[in-house]
Amino acid sequence: MRFAERLADIVGPANVLTSPADSAPYLTDWRRQYSSQALCVVKPASTAEVASVVRACAAEGVAVVPQGGNTGLCGGSVPSGLGREIVLSLARMNRIREIDVLNQTMTVEAGCVLSAVRQAASDAGRLFPLSLAAEGSCQLGGNLSTNAGGVNVLRYGMAREQVLGIEVVLPDARVWNGLRGLRKDNTGYDLKQLFLGAEGTLGVITAAVLRLHPMPTATTTAWIGLDAASRAVELLALLGESVGDRLSAFELISRDCLQAVLEKSPNSHDPLPAPHPWYVLAEFCDGGDDASLVARVEEALSRCVEGSVLQDAVLAQSRAQARALWAIRELIPEAQFTGVKHDISVPISKIAEFIELVGAELRLRFPQAKPYVFGHVGDGNLHYNVGPPGLLAEREAVNAIVYEIVAKLGGSISAEHGLGQLKREEILLRKDPLELELMANLKRVFDPRQIMNPGKVLSAKLFQK
Ligand SMILES: Cc1cc2nc3c(=O)[nH]c(=O)nc-3n(C[C@H](O)[C@H](O)[C@H](O)COP(=O)(O)OP(=O)(O)OC[C@H]3O[C@@H](n4cnc5c(N)ncnc54)[C@H](O)[C@@H]3O)c2cc1C
Repeated sequence: MRFAERLADIVGPANVLTSPADSAPYLTDWRRQYSSQALCVVKPASTAEVASVVRACAAEGVAVVPQGGNTGLCGGSVPSGLGREIVLSLARMNRIREIDVLNQTMTVEAGCVLSAVRQAASDAGRLFPLSLAAEGSCQLGGNLSTNAGGVNVLRYGMAREQVLGIEVVLPDARVWNGLRGLRKDNTGYDLKQLFLGAEGTLGVITAAVLRLHPMPTATTTAWIGLDAASRAVELLALLGESVGDRLSAFELISRDCLQAVLEKSPNSHDPLPAPHPWYVLAEFCDGGDDASLVARVEEALSRCVEGSVLQDAVLAQSRAQARALWAIRELIPEAQFTGVKHDISVPISKIAEFIELVGAELRLRFPQAKPYVFGHVGDGNLHYNVGPPGLLAEREAVNAIVYEIVAKLGGSISAEHGLGQLKREEILLRKDPLELELMANLKRVFDPRQIMNPGKVLSAKLFQK
């Protein structure tokens, strides 16, 4: 019996895709940089089915590529072409298993789309704070496997911090049920942490117990014009002092990014009357009523105007206006789709230095270079993208400039998108060899036959010694 037919016995024939047309969307990544073949695409509907599929693959030495919404930006969710592979789509595992309002938790399957998870929490009067522009497509399993960040990290932390327990199908097909809803559990190594951010290289996450938060009752959104990127860091510190953790998002946007959105999207408008070289999109939330929060934020911003930390600011007057401000931020990745892209982090205090040093070095080496800088500056995370598209031919030289300065400032070459295939080799130059050795040793323990998402995160070079 052909392998695909054996898998069809497990999940049903309709849930094994073999034709090129049906499989195509699962074989190319979101940025269309990676594309390869798979024996088939398999869509199990339960943890037991995932385990049976993995068991069949392990027996045949076929590799398993877990896939959620396929919105990952490092080529982790598509086959790497290193051997016989299947794509394991979690899309049909999309049930909310339980919401425990008193425990402030929800138990969710990996294939739930992030916006549906947020909606289910909201329907129960709670907040699931993980939020990113791809939330209408990305899935919880993908979010946890990439340890996704997004716009609310400042107040609530990354995906990892939202997780109390997980259920995983291991590469040998055993199921680890770690679905505990405990905030305290000091019973040895915290194994779930190994699977969070592992990009599917250690096992398939099938479900998770997520931490919920009280739903803020007041929200206000500000668009702020600045004369220098360094002002954003000053502003962050000042707002932190005056509004504390009411500040939930703090996004830096360069004028060039705004300009790109205004040109590509005719429905967008410049929120301020005059242009500024830099902007911050900030969101504040709290219990209580909107009016009290707005008064507090206005007072904080006025103090910043007096100190010349900011040049101009506008507060959204309605939910629709707030949405329009956020739409500008969310449209940036698409507005300058082609270019040499980076997702870096440095200590927040070094953000402005990073922008200055990289800008100066790029101008020197590539006078035509045009940086598009935006990101979650409250987390020290910048998406530092460099156009024009012609510069893609110099990608390695541009990367070298950016990554050398990241290293000099004590930063990371992947703040929130992971390594996937994109940074698998680069990380060999950028991470402590001891850490890389420990990572390779963990892979050997969990997946000695290397069937789980091969060619991602860990370079083959780490296993040649
Ligand atoms: C417009 C846009 C905006 C974005 N904004 C952000 C942002 O602000 N912050 C951010 O962090 N990311 C962002 N991303 C990147 C992406 O959305 C996230 O990485 C997201 O978490 C990926 O989820 P996914 O379901 O699409 O995963 P996929 O792309 O399908 O997979 C990502 C990785 O996880 C693995 N994986 C998927 N599901 C499982 C599972 N169940 N078990 C084990 N491994 C699994 C895959 O093998 C792959 O290695 C953005 C992407 C786009 C397109």
